[in-house]
Amino acid sequence: MLFTTHTIVGAAIGVATKNPALGFAAGFLTHHIMDSLPHFDQGSYRAIKSGPNYLNTKIDNVPEFSYIKRDWIMLLIDFALGGTLFLSLLALLPIDVWFYLIIGALGCLMPDIIDSSPLWSKKLRTKYKLITKYHKFHKFFHWTVKKNQAFLGATTQISLIIISLAYLLK
Ligand SMILES: [Zn+2]
Repeated sequence: MLFTTHTIVGAAIGVATKNPALGFAAGFLTHHIMDSLPHFDQGSYRAIKSGPNYLNTKIDNVPEFSYIKRDWIMLLIDFALGGTLFLSLLALLPIDVWFYLIIGALGCLMPDIIDSSPLWSKKLRTKYKLITKYHKFHKFFHWTVKKNQAFLGATTQISLIIISLAYLLK
């Protein structure tokens, strides 16, 4: 799932909990629930079959870490969009909720920071068995749509972003 979606939903969770530890943990857990919904991202271009392993689809759809130019461009646009939305939230919301926004977003992004980075995740898995186990868990609760299902995969994420923004800006 895209960086932007995890960032904004995580920020909303952080504010909803109004507790740093709970906000981080709830953001982290929610990441996996969000990944379980059909979603579009870089992997959609590589997916051969679409479906989640938790519904017994038994697919190994996305060869990882084979980032090409298109993936990096998508990542940059995603960072720019997520960053802009997040900074706008900081600008629009009072300073006393900033910490909750940040900690919630960080919790929700953490699974991908650990396990989906094209720069260090592969090394982490080789070095730590626990990270390899965690990767299996991360992959199990995951549903990347194929590129011809991009509409569905975008709709889930746009809906999550709108709901989160509506909650935060109410
Ligand atoms: Zn993920």
